[in-house]
Amino acid sequence: MRAMWPLFALVLGLVVGSFLNVVIHRLPKGESIVFPPSRCPQCGHRLGPLDLVPVLSYLALRGRCRYCGGRVSPRYPLVEGLTGVAFLLAALFYGPGLEALLVFAFLAFLIALSFIDLDTYELPDALTYGLLLLGLLSAYALAFPLPFRESLDGALLAAGGLGLVAGYGNLFLRRFREGRAEVPVGPHQVHMAALLGALLGPGVGMALAFLAWGLSARTGRPVVLPDRLTLPLLPLALLLAPYLGASFLEALRGSLLAAGGLALAGGLYWAFRPAPPEEEEEPVAMGYGDVKLLGALGAWLGPYAFLALFLGVFAGALFGLLLRQRKLPFGPFLALGGVVVLPFGEALWTGYLRLLGI
Ligand SMILES: [Zn+2]
Repeated sequence: MRAMWPLFALVLGLVVGSFLNVVIHRLPKGESIVFPPSRCPQCGHRLGPLDLVPVLSYLALRGRCRYCGGRVSPRYPLVEGLTGVAFLLAALFYGPGLEALLVFAFLAFLIALSFIDLDTYELPDALTYGLLLLGLLSAYALAFPLPFRESLDGALLAAGGLGLVAGYGNLFLRRFREGRAEVPVGPHQVHMAALLGALLGPGVGMALAFLAWGLSARTGRPVVLPDRLTLPLLPLALLLAPYLGASFLEALRGSLLAAGGLALAGGLYWAFRPAPPEEEEEPVAMGYGDVKLLGALGAWLGPYAFLALFLGVFAGALFGLLLRQRKLPFGPFLALGGVVVLPFGEALWTGYLRLLGI
């Protein structure tokens, strides 16, 4: 029975991969992923069960449509095969049970997000928040893969950390001009929360930033501190923390937790409320999609999400150099970092510390 488990995982992965192809294809276009049934994108012929056997149909039909002979993208069997192998490898780490199924879901979310980001440079909120929610629920109900407290902290710290990186990157790209503040909530409140969280602790910092959000909604005008004030003051507040009765690390933690709370709550608000059309395109170093994805990874990895971020940046830079490509979506690299860190994060970290002789 035990020997059947990896085989079961492989077959399940192939089938889930076939479903992910539909998600990757239809979700960005806002189409239903349940209905209508699959059709050949070229001739529109409805595909039967024999055309939809993962990987095998593609091989048997030599990559062509049975009805019109048109080429079928190798992406379809690739996503199926990748999901199958990913589930198989996960099954070697996690025995049969609920925990393994949660890891399968983690992998499925990340595969769908990666391919959608490759296609569209976007990470749909339905998937990033879905992954975040599943991580929090799993931690709450099963304390897997980590206790709830660490899961929640991880999500906030990770989203706050990358949200601030985006904030500094964007300020730099605008050559330190003040950016337009969004009503009722946007990156400005995230940066405010970071500064106030460093000075007053995460609870008060978050509460004041939410208050600014509320006032902004009430008045229809942005109620914010300017980025040119909050972002330069933040490192100062962290450095001066010991004189204000908190350690540097406590202040950093307060800052990131508060910023993460605003980033994830603000992102959720905009997920349900389409943003008004942009008046002028401002240069953006990084979208909030990556912030939300790293927040979701934090719910699964805790503070090790920062290790996933580091691996993602490293892999992304390496690929960028190898492919001589300047514009690469970051999501697939973050996802790769997350997939490596979920089973190996702690081992990688202790190995790294040992390397340093600590
Ligand atoms: Zn066809």
